[in-house]
Amino acid sequence: MNIWAVILAAGQGSRLARAGCATKKQFLEYQGRPLFWRSALTFAQSGVIQGVVFVFPENDFLPAQEQVIDLDNTDGLGMPWLAVVGGALRQDSVFNGLGALPDGVEGVMVHDAARPFFSVEMVERLRTPLLPQEGEAPHQAVIPAVPVKDTIKSTDGDLVRETLPRAELCAVQTPQAFALPLLVEAHERARSEGWEVTDDASMVERLGCPVLIVEGEENNVKITTPEDLALLDQSMPGTGASGTGASGMKTPCVGWGYDVHKYVPEDSPKARPLKLGGISVPGPCVQAHSDGDVLLHALTDALLGCLCQGDIGQRFPDSDPTLDGMNSAIFLNEVMQDIHDKGVELAHADLTVIAQTPKLAPHRDLIRKNVARLLHLPIERVNMKATTEEGLGFTGAKEGIKAVASVTALRDF
Ligand code: MG
Repeated sequence: MNIWAVILAAGQGSRLARAGCATKKQFLEYQGRPLFWRSALTFAQSGVIQGVVFVFPENDFLPAQEQVIDLDNTDGLGMPWLAVVGGALRQDSVFNGLGALPDGVEGVMVHDAARPFFSVEMVERLRTPLLPQEGEAPHQAVIPAVPVKDTIKSTDGDLVRETLPRAELCAVQTPQAFALPLLVEAHERARSEGWEVTDDASMVERLGCPVLIVEGEENNVKITTPEDLALLDQSMPGTGASGTGASGMKTPCVGWGYDVHKYVPEDSPKARPLKLGGISVPGPCVQAHSDGDVLLHALTDALLGCLCQGDIGQRFPDSDPTLDGMNSAIFLNEVMQDIHDKGVELAHADLTVIAQTPKLAPHRDLIRKNVARLLHLPIERVNMKATTEEGLGFTGAKEGIKAVASVTALRDF
């Protein structure tokens, strides 16, 4: 399904302005990037979204567009983007964003840039119900929500009118996902009939269309008041957009890894079918205790290098019978958990596989994509090379395969 995101960065930030904060909230920076860009990177990393429309305020449009060009040059969003001018109301800005979507777009996720901490997992949760399920029609409107913690009362001036039953209430977030024709129809009706709403789902509700709720995220807070700004100074673990930072306080480090596996006949002990970067590749078998993924072993060592935590053999010993035939992505995921827990921000990985055989060019893009996924990095931050050693040495003699990996990161020491 061809789904684009519309990121609303057109708000006037009046609450912040009243509090003496000159920067509109969507242009506030977190880890050296504006909030709207963090949202765009999360969409890009999800692999679910094919392009982004940024909606900027008219007054700030040209500098904001320039800023996106610069950020895209630096970070490489890896997907097309457009920028359009917003309108007076939020819904006018959405309407302008929808109007800019290219032909062939089938679905859209509308998102407020002031919520920069949603995860790639949430993007996936929103997308799944839009797809046809077995024997069931797909949903056309899917929104994230979290339970309400406070008791909510409706009011009449200073007086309480009634207490609403909390169990029936939820707090709704963005992104909100829609089949595009439905949302366009809702916005057209809203314009012709003068509806004013605070989110897109409300319009769809008024059309009488069901809106599905999926699990939202407590971290997916909206930055609307000066108090919220304090959140920007804290790290927000588990929010999915690692590797986006350029924190000035951390120290750059490089981890390097190297690994070799021997080619063996497929009927010999511990012979494993060739896998590189988690992808099965037709070719000779390798001898290994685990699944023998030479590239993920080198990469795991590089990550351990950034952590100053020794090597893969210490962490996952060959002598451990429970690791027999183990998927190496599990090793890598375990080390990635440490990377995450220690607040290490991965910036980039460069990988090289050295083999005389098999030919790796046909598999290179898939390997690169999968490694980027495993590292939670946009694909543009991962490089994948393959080379031979010109017939020299053990790789040249087709006796085995080797891989080297380097990872750059920012971390506290
Ligand atoms: Mg190995």
